[in-house]
Amino acid sequence: MDEKIFVTKSSMPPYEEFIEAIKPLWDSHWITNMGEFHKRLEDELKKYLKLDNISLFVNGHMALEMVMKAMNFPEGGEVITTPFTFISTTHAIVRNGLEPVFCDIKLSDYTIDENKIEALITEKTVAIVPVHVYGNLCNVEAIEKIALKYNLKVIYDAAHAFGMEYDGKGVGTFGDASIFSFHATKVFNTIEGGAVAFRDKNLYENLLRLKNFGIENEEVVSLVGANAKLNEVSAIMGLCNLKHITTEIEKRKVCYEKYVEILKEIQGINIIEKLDYVKNNYGYFPILIDEKIYGKTRDDLYGFFRANNIYARKYFYPLTPDQLCFKNKYINSSIENARYVSDRILTLPLYADLKSQDIERICLYIKSFKG
Ligand SMILES: *Cc1c(COP(=O)(O)O)cnc(C)c1O
Repeated sequence: MDEKIFVTKSSMPPYEEFIEAIKPLWDSHWITNMGEFHKRLEDELKKYLKLDNISLFVNGHMALEMVMKAMNFPEGGEVITTPFTFISTTHAIVRNGLEPVFCDIKLSDYTIDENKIEALITEKTVAIVPVHVYGNLCNVEAIEKIALKYNLKVIYDAAHAFGMEYDGKGVGTFGDASIFSFHATKVFNTIEGGAVAFRDKNLYENLLRLKNFGIENEEVVSLVGANAKLNEVSAIMGLCNLKHITTEIEKRKVCYEKYVEILKEIQGINIIEKLDYVKNNYGYFPILIDEKIYGKTRDDLYGFFRANNIYARKYFYPLTPDQLCFKNKYINSSIENARYVSDRILTLPLYADLKSQDIERICLYIKSFKG
């Protein structure tokens, strides 16, 4: 049996480099609570992501939950979002006491269908929470227009979109805020970690407080916060990984292009074209399997891969409103495109060190399995 290939493999800096970088912590003994490296990582990320304002968090989920909290939405407010996402997006809305309203996605790029948003707006709508999916950015301009017209906040889940740019602008500059995930499985990691990028610089103080129990000063707690701080070891991991990010993304790009070159020949395996005005990060390689043409279903191919030691992922499946904790609670509009995509999507292994011959092996299985 051939070696196992997993869907991803976390990027890590050279061991010696990391050990050297964490040494100062043994002098200072300042290992969490917004220390020197927390500050330094915020500064470096502002430059790399082309942002004015950023606040680090313990993970992407808490970043989203806390920035929504910072916006002080009225209890029971409605939030228009996508069902085709990781469960975190929906959890963050519900855990803020808000009501998710699911809007269908586009078959062309799997992001929220901006033309279906307006029909879902009511007096109770307070925000739109769209998700940039894989390397596909939402229609940020159309969403901005709708938000202005109805006076809604826009918070992007940009967990997949680290370092991406739209027309030369950092992806985190769109909307009122965007969150990034620095989880071990993402393009850039701090082991666990995340950040909020935001437009109104006055949010910084509140975000700082919210991630630290709402503490304003030694004797005053002014907000009902949580503990969501990024520790110093993670911040250093981030600083080290950031030094290598350009090479990492370059290597991913090579893998990505190799997949495209082989798979574009196979009928029934659909790949979304990259757009010229988008700077990509090559985070994921999703394929959509059209069983009518390919002759086998996504689940068939997933099973065949597993039998051959290849661990692809049904990502995102099931849709978040279909999960046990949300089932039959929130769906009130048609989400048939999301269902179509979720039933047919499969993300293939992709990481910087994925070997060329492994990509060939994966593609050969796809070719030979065709019905
Ligand atoms: C990874 C991810 C998150 C959550 O990020 P964590 O850092 O793991 O908390 C949220 N949304 C999407 C779309 C993600 O892929």
